[in-house]
Amino acid sequence: MAKKFDVAVIGAGPGGYIAAIRAAQLGLNTVCIDEFKSEDGKPSLGGTCLNVGCIPSKALLESSENYERALHKFADHGIKCKDVSLDVATMLGRKDNIVQQFTGGIALLFKKNKVASVHGHGRLTGAGDYYRIAVTRDNGSETIDAKHVIIATGSLPRQIEGITVDNVRICDNVGALSLKDVPGKLGVIGAGVIGLEMGSVWRRLGSEVTVLEALPTFLAAADDAVAREALRIFTKTVGLDIKLGCRIGSVETGKKSISVEFEYEGESRKLTFDRLVVAVGRVPNTEGLGVESVGVKTDERGFIEVDERNRTGVPNIYAIGDVVRGPMLAHKSSEEGVAVAETIAGQHGHVNLETIPWVIYTSPEIAWVGKTEQQLKAEGVEYRSGQFPFIVSGRARALGETAGFVKMLADAKSDRILGVHILGPFASELIAEAVVAMEFGATAEDIARIVHAHPSLSEAMHEAALGVDKRFLSL
Ligand code: FAD
Ligand code: NAD
Repeated sequence: MAKKFDVAVIGAGPGGYIAAIRAAQLGLNTVCIDEFKSEDGKPSLGGTCLNVGCIPSKALLESSENYERALHKFADHGIKCKDVSLDVATMLGRKDNIVQQFTGGIALLFKKNKVASVHGHGRLTGAGDYYRIAVTRDNGSETIDAKHVIIATGSLPRQIEGITVDNVRICDNVGALSLKDVPGKLGVIGAGVIGLEMGSVWRRLGSEVTVLEALPTFLAAADDAVAREALRIFTKTVGLDIKLGCRIGSVETGKKSISVEFEYEGESRKLTFDRLVVAVGRVPNTEGLGVESVGVKTDERGFIEVDERNRTGVPNIYAIGDVVRGPMLAHKSSEEGVAVAETIAGQHGHVNLETIPWVIYTSPEIAWVGKTEQQLKAEGVEYRSGQFPFIVSGRARALGETAGFVKMLADAKSDRILGVHILGPFASELIAEAVVAMEFGATAEDIARIVHAHPSLSEAMHEAALGVDKRFLSL
Protein backbone atom coordinates (compact mmCIF):
# COMPACT_ATOMS: atom_id res chain seq x y z
CA MET A 1 0.00 0.00 0.00
CA ALA A 2 1.39 3.38 -0.98
CA LYS A 3 1.68 6.06 1.70
CA LYS A 4 -0.05 9.27 0.62
CA PHE A 5 1.36 12.80 1.06
CA ASP A 6 0.54 16.34 -0.06
CA VAL A 7 4.20 16.92 -0.93
CA ALA A 8 7.10 14.56 -1.66
CA VAL A 9 10.54 16.10 -1.81
CA ILE A 10 13.24 14.01 -3.52
CA GLY A 11 16.64 14.93 -2.08
CA ALA A 12 17.52 16.25 1.38
CA GLY A 13 20.28 18.72 0.49
CA PRO A 14 19.92 22.42 1.40
CA GLY A 15 17.25 22.71 -1.32
CA GLY A 16 15.22 19.65 -0.37
CA TYR A 17 15.37 19.73 3.43
CA ILE A 18 14.47 23.40 3.57
CA ALA A 19 11.61 22.89 1.07
CA ALA A 20 10.28 20.00 3.18
CA ILE A 21 10.45 21.96 6.44
CA ARG A 22 8.74 25.01 4.92
CA ALA A 23 6.01 22.87 3.31
CA ALA A 24 5.33 21.15 6.64
CA GLN A 25 5.26 24.51 8.44
CA LEU A 26 2.56 25.59 5.99
CA GLY A 27 0.39 22.63 7.02
CA LEU A 28 1.22 20.29 4.13
CA ASN A 29 1.70 16.60 4.89
CA THR A 30 5.29 16.21 3.66
CA VAL A 31 7.82 13.44 3.08
CA CYS A 32 11.49 13.90 2.18
CA ILE A 33 13.25 11.02 0.41
CA ASP A 34 17.05 10.91 0.37
CA GLU A 35 19.58 8.26 -0.56
CA PHE A 36 22.88 9.77 0.69
CA LYS A 37 25.06 7.53 2.86
CA SER A 38 28.12 8.63 4.78
CA GLU A 39 31.47 6.79 4.60
CA ASP A 40 30.31 4.36 7.29
CA GLY A 41 27.30 3.40 5.15
CA LYS A 42 24.72 5.13 7.35
CA PRO A 43 21.99 7.41 5.92
CA SER A 44 23.03 11.03 6.35
CA LEU A 45 20.76 13.98 5.61
CA GLY A 46 21.97 17.33 4.25
CA GLY A 47 23.11 16.38 0.74
CA THR A 48 26.35 17.53 -0.81
CA CYS A 49 26.47 20.74 1.19
CA LEU A 50 26.51 19.26 4.67
CA ASN A 51 28.21 15.94 3.96
CA VAL A 52 30.86 16.59 1.32
CA GLY A 53 30.65 20.26 0.37
CA CYS A 54 30.17 23.62 2.06
CA ILE A 55 30.46 22.58 5.70
CA PRO A 56 33.42 20.15 5.70
CA SER A 57 35.37 22.39 3.30
CA LYS A 58 34.89 25.43 5.53
CA ALA A 59 35.96 23.40 8.58
CA LEU A 60 39.22 22.43 6.84
CA LEU A 61 39.78 25.94 5.50
CA GLU A 62 39.58 27.28 9.07
CA SER A 63 41.91 24.58 10.44
CA SER A 64 44.49 25.14 7.73
CA GLU A 65 44.36 28.91 8.21
CA ASN A 66 44.96 28.44 11.94
CA TYR A 67 47.96 26.24 11.18
CA GLU A 68 49.33 28.90 8.85
CA ARG A 69 48.76 31.61 11.48
CA ALA A 70 50.60 29.58 14.12
CA LEU A 71 53.48 28.93 11.71
CA HIS A 72 53.87 32.35 10.11
CA LYS A 73 51.58 35.04 11.46
CA PHE A 74 51.47 34.89 15.27
CA ALA A 75 55.13 35.92 15.45
CA ASP A 76 54.14 39.43 14.23
CA HIS A 77 51.94 39.73 17.31
CA GLY A 78 54.80 38.75 19.57
CA ILE A 79 53.29 35.30 20.09
CA LYS A 80 55.97 32.68 19.77
CA CYS A 81 54.89 29.18 18.84
CA LYS A 82 57.53 26.51 19.25
CA ASP A 83 57.34 23.08 17.66
CA VAL A 84 54.12 23.69 15.77
CA SER A 85 53.05 20.37 14.33
CA LEU A 86 50.14 18.98 12.43
CA ASP A 87 47.81 16.13 13.40
CA VAL A 88 45.77 15.50 10.25
CA ALA A 89 43.65 12.80 11.91
CA THR A 90 42.47 15.26 14.59
CA MET A 91 41.80 17.89 11.95
CA LEU A 92 39.70 15.46 9.92
CA GLY A 93 37.98 14.25 13.10
CA ARG A 94 36.96 17.81 13.98
CA LYS A 95 35.58 18.28 10.47
CA ASP A 96 33.65 14.98 10.68
CA ASN A 97 32.18 15.96 14.07
CA ILE A 98 30.93 19.26 12.69
CA VAL A 99 29.35 17.41 9.75
CA GLN A 100 27.68 14.86 12.03
CA GLN A 101 26.26 17.56 14.30
CA PHE A 102 24.64 19.25 11.32
CA THR A 103 23.38 16.14 9.51
CA GLY A 104 21.94 14.82 12.80
CA GLY A 105 20.41 18.25 13.36
CA ILE A 106 18.35 17.89 10.20
CA ALA A 107 16.82 14.66 11.45
CA LEU A 108 15.78 16.60 14.58
CA LEU A 109 14.38 19.47 12.50
CA PHE A 110 12.36 16.96 10.48
CA LYS A 111 10.92 15.52 13.70
CA LYS A 112 10.16 18.96 15.11
CA ASN A 113 8.39 20.06 11.93
CA LYS A 114 6.68 16.69 11.36
CA VAL A 115 8.40 15.95 8.06
CA ALA A 116 8.39 12.20 7.31
CA SER A 117 11.95 11.15 6.44
CA VAL A 118 12.46 8.17 4.14
CA HIS A 119 15.85 6.76 3.23
CA GLY A 120 16.34 5.35 -0.26
CA HIS A 121 16.52 6.13 -3.95
CA GLY A 122 13.36 7.78 -5.24
CA ARG A 123 12.16 7.15 -8.77
CA LEU A 124 9.09 8.67 -10.36
CA THR A 125 7.08 5.87 -11.90
CA GLY A 126 3.90 7.50 -13.10
CA ALA A 127 1.04 9.92 -12.65
CA GLY A 128 -2.65 9.60 -11.83
CA ASP A 129 -4.50 11.57 -9.15
CA TYR A 130 -1.18 11.37 -7.34
CA TYR A 131 2.40 11.05 -8.58
CA ARG A 132 3.87 7.68 -7.66
CA ILE A 133 7.44 7.36 -6.38
CA ALA A 134 9.15 4.00 -5.93
CA VAL A 135 11.72 4.12 -3.13
CA THR A 136 14.41 1.45 -3.05
CA ARG A 137 17.13 0.81 -0.48
CA ASP A 138 19.50 -2.00 0.48
CA ASN A 139 17.01 -3.64 2.82
CA GLY A 140 13.72 -3.10 1.04
CA SER A 141 11.44 -0.79 -0.86
CA GLU A 142 8.25 1.23 -0.47
CA THR A 143 5.86 3.26 -2.56
CA ILE A 144 4.91 6.86 -1.98
CA ASP A 145 2.06 8.78 -3.59
CA ALA A 146 2.15 12.58 -3.56
CA LYS A 147 0.00 15.37 -4.98
CA HIS A 148 3.03 17.62 -5.41
CA VAL A 149 6.64 16.64 -6.08
CA ILE A 150 9.71 18.79 -5.50
CA ILE A 151 12.81 17.43 -7.24
CA ALA A 152 15.94 18.50 -5.32
CA THR A 153 18.41 15.84 -6.40
CA GLY A 154 21.41 18.17 -6.67
CA SER A 155 24.56 17.60 -8.68
CA LEU A 156 27.52 15.26 -9.10
CA PRO A 157 31.16 15.99 -9.95
CA ARG A 158 31.79 16.26 -13.70
CA GLN A 159 34.10 13.49 -14.90
CA ILE A 160 36.91 13.83 -17.43
CA GLU A 161 37.05 10.95 -19.88
CA GLY A 162 40.06 8.77 -19.22
CA ILE A 163 40.52 9.85 -15.58
CA THR A 164 39.15 7.38 -13.06
CA VAL A 165 38.34 8.91 -9.69
CA ASP A 166 38.95 6.43 -6.85
CA ASN A 167 38.83 9.03 -4.06
CA VAL A 168 42.12 7.74 -2.66
CA ARG A 169 44.77 8.75 -5.21
CA ILE A 170 42.60 10.60 -7.73
CA CYS A 171 39.89 12.50 -5.90
CA ASP A 172 36.81 14.59 -6.50
CA ASN A 173 35.43 16.74 -3.67
CA VAL A 174 34.72 13.66 -1.53
CA GLY A 175 38.31 12.41 -1.42
CA ALA A 176 39.83 15.91 -1.38
CA LEU A 177 38.08 16.54 1.95
CA SER A 178 39.46 13.38 3.52
CA LEU A 179 43.11 12.95 2.49
CA LYS A 180 44.61 10.95 5.36
CA ASP A 181 47.98 12.68 5.13
CA VAL A 182 49.45 15.76 3.48
CA PRO A 183 50.56 14.88 -0.05
CA GLY A 184 54.04 16.11 -0.96
CA LYS A 185 52.84 17.10 -4.41
CA LEU A 186 49.18 17.74 -5.10
CA GLY A 187 47.83 18.28 -8.60
CA VAL A 188 44.48 19.97 -9.08
CA ILE A 189 42.64 19.98 -12.41
CA GLY A 190 40.37 23.05 -12.56
CA ALA A 191 41.02 26.49 -11.04
CA GLY A 192 37.37 26.96 -10.06
CA VAL A 193 35.87 27.32 -6.63
CA ILE A 194 36.66 23.81 -5.38
CA GLY A 195 40.15 23.79 -6.91
CA LEU A 196 41.06 27.07 -5.22
CA GLU A 197 39.48 26.26 -1.85
CA MET A 198 40.85 22.71 -1.58
CA GLY A 199 44.17 23.68 -3.20
CA SER A 200 44.57 26.40 -0.55
CA VAL A 201 43.81 23.98 2.30
CA TRP A 202 46.44 21.43 1.29
CA ARG A 203 48.96 24.13 0.29
CA ARG A 204 48.74 25.66 3.77
CA LEU A 205 49.11 22.22 5.33
CA GLY A 206 52.36 21.75 3.42
CA SER A 207 51.69 20.37 -0.08
CA GLU A 208 53.30 21.75 -3.19
CA VAL A 209 50.15 22.50 -5.21
CA THR A 210 49.90 22.85 -9.00
CA VAL A 211 46.56 23.87 -10.46
CA LEU A 212 45.95 23.10 -14.13
CA GLU A 213 43.16 25.19 -15.66
CA ALA A 214 41.78 24.84 -19.19
CA LEU A 215 40.67 28.44 -19.68
CA PRO A 216 43.20 31.18 -20.46
CA THR A 217 41.38 33.53 -18.06
CA PHE A 218 41.34 33.13 -14.29
CA LEU A 219 37.95 33.07 -12.49
CA ALA A 220 36.04 34.18 -15.57
CA ALA A 221 32.80 34.71 -13.60
CA ALA A 222 34.37 37.23 -11.19
CA ASP A 223 34.98 40.94 -11.83
CA ASP A 224 38.23 41.35 -13.80
CA ALA A 225 39.84 43.55 -11.14
CA VAL A 226 39.13 40.95 -8.44
CA ALA A 227 40.27 38.04 -10.61
CA ARG A 228 43.54 39.79 -11.55
CA GLU A 229 44.47 40.68 -7.97
CA ALA A 230 43.34 37.29 -6.63
CA LEU A 231 45.53 35.49 -9.16
CA ARG A 232 48.50 37.60 -8.08
CA ILE A 233 47.88 36.85 -4.38
CA PHE A 234 47.14 33.14 -4.85
CA THR A 235 50.36 32.63 -6.81
CA LYS A 236 52.72 35.03 -4.97
CA THR A 237 51.45 34.87 -1.37
CA VAL A 238 49.46 31.64 -1.00
CA GLY A 239 51.94 29.76 -3.16
CA LEU A 240 49.62 27.98 -5.60
CA ASP A 241 51.27 27.28 -8.95
CA ILE A 242 48.37 28.10 -11.27
CA LYS A 243 48.81 27.26 -14.94
CA LEU A 244 46.12 28.74 -17.19
CA GLY A 245 45.26 27.56 -20.69
CA CYS A 246 46.23 23.90 -20.13
CA ARG A 247 45.01 21.02 -22.23
CA ILE A 248 44.97 17.86 -20.17
CA GLY A 249 46.19 14.77 -22.02
CA SER A 250 46.73 11.33 -20.56
CA VAL A 251 46.69 10.66 -16.83
CA GLU A 252 48.45 7.55 -15.57
CA THR A 253 48.37 6.10 -12.10
CA GLY A 254 51.62 4.40 -11.15
CA LYS A 255 52.44 2.50 -7.94
CA LYS A 256 53.39 5.64 -6.05
CA SER A 257 52.53 8.61 -8.20
CA ILE A 258 50.14 9.93 -10.80
CA SER A 259 51.55 11.43 -13.95
CA VAL A 260 49.63 14.02 -15.90
CA GLU A 261 50.51 14.97 -19.45
CA PHE A 262 49.26 18.33 -20.63
CA GLU A 263 49.86 21.06 -23.16
CA TYR A 264 50.87 24.43 -21.77
CA GLU A 265 52.19 27.50 -23.58
CA GLY A 266 52.42 25.53 -26.80
CA GLU A 267 54.54 22.74 -25.30
CA SER A 268 53.85 19.21 -24.13
CA ARG A 269 54.53 18.88 -20.41
CA LYS A 270 54.37 16.15 -17.82
CA LEU A 271 54.12 16.46 -14.05
CA THR A 272 53.90 13.78 -11.40
CA PHE A 273 51.85 14.11 -8.24
CA ASP A 274 51.21 12.09 -5.08
CA ARG A 275 47.50 12.91 -5.23
CA LEU A 276 45.30 14.48 -7.90
CA VAL A 277 42.06 16.40 -7.33
CA VAL A 278 39.69 16.74 -10.27
CA ALA A 279 37.37 19.73 -9.84
CA VAL A 280 36.09 20.68 -13.28
CA GLY A 281 32.51 21.60 -12.42
CA ARG A 282 29.41 19.66 -11.49
CA VAL A 283 26.57 18.17 -13.50
CA PRO A 284 22.88 17.96 -12.59
CA ASN A 285 21.88 14.65 -11.00
CA THR A 286 18.85 12.99 -12.54
CA GLU A 287 20.27 9.46 -12.49
CA GLY A 288 17.49 6.88 -12.24
CA LEU A 289 14.96 9.56 -11.29
CA GLY A 290 12.38 8.53 -13.87
CA VAL A 291 11.61 12.09 -14.98
CA GLU A 292 10.71 10.80 -18.44
CA SER A 293 7.91 8.68 -16.97
CA VAL A 294 5.99 11.82 -16.01
CA GLY A 295 7.05 14.05 -18.91
CA VAL A 296 9.51 16.33 -17.04
CA LYS A 297 12.01 17.70 -19.55
CA THR A 298 15.77 18.13 -19.25
CA ASP A 299 17.85 20.49 -21.40
CA GLU A 300 20.88 19.55 -23.52
CA ARG A 301 23.18 19.81 -20.45
CA GLY A 302 20.92 17.60 -18.33
CA PHE A 303 19.37 20.34 -16.15
CA ILE A 304 15.66 19.97 -15.42
CA GLU A 305 13.85 22.72 -17.32
CA VAL A 306 11.93 25.10 -15.06
CA ASP A 307 10.38 28.56 -15.34
CA GLU A 308 11.13 31.53 -13.08
CA ARG A 309 9.01 29.97 -10.32
CA ASN A 310 10.68 26.55 -10.58
CA ARG A 311 7.67 24.91 -12.30
CA THR A 312 8.68 22.09 -14.64
CA GLY A 313 5.72 22.45 -17.01
CA VAL A 314 4.22 19.22 -15.66
CA PRO A 315 1.45 20.21 -13.22
CA ASN A 316 2.50 20.12 -9.56
CA ILE A 317 6.08 19.00 -10.25
CA TYR A 318 8.78 21.50 -9.32
CA ALA A 319 12.57 21.34 -9.37
CA ILE A 320 15.05 23.39 -7.33
CA GLY A 321 18.75 23.80 -6.55
CA ASP A 322 21.73 22.40 -8.43
CA VAL A 323 19.53 20.27 -10.69
CA VAL A 324 18.12 23.41 -12.38
CA ARG A 325 19.57 26.54 -14.06
CA GLY A 326 21.32 29.24 -12.04
CA PRO A 327 24.34 29.18 -9.76
CA MET A 328 25.11 25.92 -7.94
CA LEU A 329 25.03 27.43 -4.47
CA ALA A 330 23.47 26.13 -1.26
CA HIS A 331 21.66 29.36 -0.37
CA LYS A 332 20.16 29.58 -3.88
CA SER A 333 18.85 26.01 -3.48
CA SER A 334 17.34 26.76 -0.06
CA GLU A 335 15.60 29.94 -1.17
CA GLU A 336 14.11 28.13 -4.16
CA GLY A 337 12.91 25.46 -1.72
CA VAL A 338 11.12 28.06 0.40
CA ALA A 339 9.61 29.73 -2.67
CA VAL A 340 8.28 26.46 -4.09
CA ALA A 341 6.81 25.31 -0.75
CA GLU A 342 5.05 28.67 -0.47
CA THR A 343 3.79 28.44 -4.06
CA ILE A 344 2.34 24.98 -3.36
CA ALA A 345 0.62 26.40 -0.26
CA GLY A 346 -1.05 29.05 -2.42
CA GLN A 347 1.36 31.90 -1.67
CA HIS A 348 3.54 33.77 -4.16
CA GLY A 349 7.01 32.24 -3.78
CA HIS A 350 9.80 33.97 -5.68
CA VAL A 351 13.61 34.12 -5.75
CA ASN A 352 15.56 37.00 -7.26
CA LEU A 353 18.44 35.29 -9.06
CA GLU A 354 20.00 38.72 -9.75
CA THR A 355 20.94 39.23 -6.11
CA ILE A 356 22.41 35.85 -5.19
CA PRO A 357 25.74 36.42 -3.42
CA TRP A 358 28.78 34.40 -4.51
CA VAL A 359 31.58 33.62 -2.08
CA ILE A 360 34.90 31.86 -2.55
CA TYR A 361 36.36 31.01 0.86
CA THR A 362 40.00 31.41 -0.02
CA SER A 363 42.28 33.66 1.98
CA PRO A 364 41.64 36.47 1.20
CA GLU A 365 38.00 35.69 0.53
CA ILE A 366 36.22 36.68 -2.66
CA ALA A 367 32.56 37.72 -2.69
CA TRP A 368 30.31 39.47 -5.12
CA VAL A 369 26.72 40.25 -6.01
CA GLY A 370 25.23 41.69 -9.20
CA LYS A 371 27.01 42.66 -12.38
CA THR A 372 30.75 42.69 -13.04
CA GLU A 373 32.39 45.66 -14.75
CA GLN A 374 33.00 43.58 -17.89
CA GLN A 375 29.30 42.60 -18.01
CA LEU A 376 28.21 46.24 -17.75
CA LYS A 377 30.60 47.18 -20.56
CA ALA A 378 29.32 44.35 -22.76
CA GLU A 379 25.71 45.42 -22.07
CA GLY A 380 26.53 49.06 -22.87
CA VAL A 381 25.40 50.24 -19.42
CA GLU A 382 26.89 53.54 -18.27
CA TYR A 383 28.24 53.18 -14.76
CA ARG A 384 30.45 54.80 -12.14
CA SER A 385 32.81 52.87 -9.92
CA GLY A 386 34.34 53.31 -6.46
CA GLN A 387 37.14 51.06 -5.20
CA PHE A 388 38.58 51.18 -1.70
CA PRO A 389 41.62 49.14 -0.60
CA PHE A 390 41.69 47.34 2.76
CA ILE A 391 45.25 48.55 3.37
CA VAL A 392 43.70 51.90 4.43
CA SER A 393 41.20 50.23 6.80
CA GLY A 394 42.17 50.47 10.48
CA ARG A 395 40.38 47.22 11.28
CA ALA A 396 42.08 45.36 8.42
CA ARG A 397 45.46 46.62 9.68
CA ALA A 398 44.67 45.45 13.22
CA LEU A 399 43.70 42.06 11.81
CA GLY A 400 46.87 41.96 9.72
CA GLU A 401 44.71 41.19 6.66
CA THR A 402 45.22 44.15 4.36
CA ALA A 403 45.09 42.57 0.89
CA GLY A 404 42.23 43.36 -1.46
CA PHE A 405 39.50 45.94 -1.83
CA VAL A 406 35.77 46.67 -2.07
CA LYS A 407 34.57 47.80 -5.49
CA MET A 408 31.10 49.24 -6.04
CA LEU A 409 29.51 49.75 -9.44
CA ALA A 410 26.52 52.08 -9.75
CA ASP A 411 24.38 53.30 -12.63
CA ALA A 412 25.83 56.55 -13.99
CA LYS A 413 22.46 58.29 -14.07
CA SER A 414 20.30 56.80 -11.33
CA ASP A 415 23.23 55.91 -8.98
CA ARG A 416 21.47 52.59 -8.26
CA ILE A 417 23.95 49.90 -7.17
CA LEU A 418 24.50 47.37 -9.97
CA GLY A 419 27.25 45.24 -8.48
CA VAL A 420 29.63 44.95 -5.52
CA HIS A 421 32.88 42.98 -5.64
CA ILE A 422 35.04 42.24 -2.63
CA LEU A 423 38.45 40.65 -2.28
CA GLY A 424 39.53 40.68 1.33
CA PRO A 425 38.99 39.59 4.94
CA PHE A 426 35.44 38.43 5.80
CA ALA A 427 34.20 39.27 2.30
CA SER A 428 31.61 36.52 2.92
CA GLU A 429 30.09 38.59 5.73
CA LEU A 430 30.58 42.04 4.16
CA ILE A 431 28.69 41.10 0.99
CA ALA A 432 25.41 40.84 2.97
CA GLU A 433 25.17 44.63 3.15
CA ALA A 434 25.44 44.85 -0.63
CA VAL A 435 22.77 42.17 -1.11
CA VAL A 436 20.36 44.02 1.18
CA ALA A 437 21.14 47.31 -0.57
CA MET A 438 20.51 45.85 -4.01
CA GLU A 439 17.29 44.10 -2.94
CA PHE A 440 16.01 47.42 -1.65
CA GLY A 441 17.08 49.21 -4.84
CA ALA A 442 19.58 51.37 -2.93
CA THR A 443 21.89 53.90 -4.54
CA ALA A 444 25.59 54.30 -3.79
CA GLU A 445 24.61 57.58 -2.11
CA ASP A 446 22.33 55.61 0.29
CA ILE A 447 25.29 53.51 1.47
CA ALA A 448 27.49 56.61 1.61
CA ARG A 449 24.97 58.25 3.99
CA ILE A 450 24.58 55.23 6.31
CA VAL A 451 26.72 55.28 9.48
CA HIS A 452 29.20 52.38 9.54
CA ALA A 453 30.90 51.39 12.81
CA HIS A 454 34.52 52.38 13.34
CA PRO A 455 36.87 50.63 13.18
CA SER A 456 35.20 47.94 11.11
CA LEU A 457 35.77 46.28 7.75
CA SER A 458 32.36 47.59 6.70
CA GLU A 459 33.91 51.06 6.47
CA ALA A 460 35.51 49.84 3.24
CA MET A 461 31.99 49.38 1.80
CA HIS A 462 31.12 52.89 2.97
CA GLU A 463 34.24 54.35 1.36
CA ALA A 464 33.68 52.43 -1.90
CA ALA A 465 30.19 53.99 -2.02
CA LEU A 466 31.70 57.44 -1.40
CA GLY A 467 34.22 56.64 -4.12
CA VAL A 468 31.46 56.18 -6.69
CA ASP A 469 30.97 59.97 -6.40
CA LYS A 470 34.75 60.52 -6.18
CA ARG A 471 34.57 61.79 -2.60
CA PHE A 472 36.59 59.31 -0.57
CA LEU A 473 37.19 60.53 2.99
CA SER A 474 40.09 58.21 3.82
CA LEU A 475 41.88 57.94 0.51
P1 FAD B 1 22.53 18.47 -2.96
O1 FAD B 1 23.11 19.15 -1.79
O2 FAD B 1 23.44 17.85 -3.94
O3 FAD B 1 21.53 17.37 -2.39
C1 FAD B 1 20.86 16.45 -3.21
C2 FAD B 1 20.50 15.24 -2.37
O4 FAD B 1 19.60 14.42 -3.13
C3 FAD B 1 21.68 14.35 -2.04
O5 FAD B 1 21.63 13.94 -0.70
C4 FAD B 1 21.51 13.14 -2.97
O6 FAD B 1 22.06 11.95 -2.43
C5 FAD B 1 19.99 13.07 -3.01
N1 FAD B 1 19.45 12.37 -4.19
C6 FAD B 1 19.81 12.53 -5.48
N2 FAD B 1 19.02 11.76 -6.28
C7 FAD B 1 18.17 11.10 -5.46
C8 FAD B 1 17.11 10.17 -5.68
N3 FAD B 1 16.75 9.81 -6.91
N4 FAD B 1 16.45 9.69 -4.60
C9 FAD B 1 16.79 10.09 -3.34
N5 FAD B 1 17.78 10.97 -3.07
C10 FAD B 1 18.44 11.47 -4.13
N6 FAD B 1 27.74 26.18 -1.96
C11 FAD B 1 27.68 27.31 -1.22
O7 FAD B 1 26.69 28.05 -1.32
N7 FAD B 1 28.68 27.64 -0.35
C12 FAD B 1 29.78 26.88 -0.20
O8 FAD B 1 30.66 27.21 0.59
C13 FAD B 1 29.87 25.69 -0.97
N8 FAD B 1 30.95 24.89 -0.84
C14 FAD B 1 31.00 23.74 -1.56
C15 FAD B 1 32.12 22.93 -1.43
C16 FAD B 1 32.22 21.77 -2.15
C17 FAD B 1 33.44 20.90 -2.00
C18 FAD B 1 31.15 21.37 -3.02
C19 FAD B 1 31.21 20.07 -3.78
C20 FAD B 1 30.03 22.16 -3.15
C21 FAD B 1 29.95 23.36 -2.44
N9 FAD B 1 28.86 24.21 -2.56
C22 FAD B 1 28.81 25.37 -1.84
C23 FAD B 1 27.74 23.90 -3.46
C24 FAD B 1 26.58 23.30 -2.66
O9 FAD B 1 27.04 22.16 -1.97
C25 FAD B 1 25.44 22.94 -3.58
O10 FAD B 1 25.07 24.07 -4.34
C26 FAD B 1 24.25 22.48 -2.77
O11 FAD B 1 24.55 21.36 -1.98
C27 FAD B 1 23.09 22.12 -3.69
O12 FAD B 1 21.99 21.76 -2.92
P2 FAD B 1 20.85 20.82 -3.49
O13 FAD B 1 19.88 20.65 -2.37
O14 FAD B 1 20.36 21.34 -4.77
O15 FAD B 1 21.57 19.43 -3.81
P1 NAD C 1 33.80 25.50 -11.19
O1 NAD C 1 32.84 25.64 -12.29
O2 NAD C 1 33.85 26.53 -10.13
O3 NAD C 1 35.27 25.39 -11.77
C1 NAD C 1 35.66 24.40 -12.66
C2 NAD C 1 36.92 24.85 -13.37
O4 NAD C 1 37.45 23.77 -14.09
C3 NAD C 1 36.65 25.98 -14.38
O5 NAD C 1 37.57 27.02 -14.18
C4 NAD C 1 36.83 25.30 -15.71
O6 NAD C 1 37.29 26.16 -16.72
C5 NAD C 1 37.85 24.24 -15.37
N1 NAD C 1 37.85 23.10 -16.28
C6 NAD C 1 36.80 22.49 -16.87
N2 NAD C 1 37.21 21.45 -17.62
C7 NAD C 1 38.55 21.40 -17.50
C8 NAD C 1 39.56 20.54 -18.02
N3 NAD C 1 39.26 19.52 -18.83
N4 NAD C 1 40.85 20.78 -17.70
C9 NAD C 1 41.17 21.81 -16.87
N5 NAD C 1 40.26 22.65 -16.35
C10 NAD C 1 38.97 22.45 -16.64
O7 NAD C 1 33.53 24.05 -10.59
P2 NAD C 1 34.05 23.35 -9.27
O8 NAD C 1 35.22 24.04 -8.69
O9 NAD C 1 34.15 21.91 -9.61
O10 NAD C 1 32.83 23.55 -8.30
C11 NAD C 1 31.53 23.09 -8.69
C12 NAD C 1 30.47 24.01 -8.18
O11 NAD C 1 30.32 23.84 -6.78
C13 NAD C 1 30.81 25.48 -8.37
O12 NAD C 1 30.37 25.94 -9.61
C14 NAD C 1 30.08 26.14 -7.28
O13 NAD C 1 28.80 26.49 -7.71
C15 NAD C 1 29.97 25.07 -6.21
N6 NAD C 1 30.90 25.40 -5.11
C16 NAD C 1 30.69 26.56 -4.43
C17 NAD C 1 31.55 26.91 -3.43
C18 NAD C 1 31.32 28.20 -2.70
O14 NAD C 1 30.22 28.73 -2.81
N7 NAD C 1 32.28 28.71 -1.96
C19 NAD C 1 32.64 26.10 -3.09
C20 NAD C 1 32.83 24.95 -3.83
C21 NAD C 1 31.94 24.60 -4.84
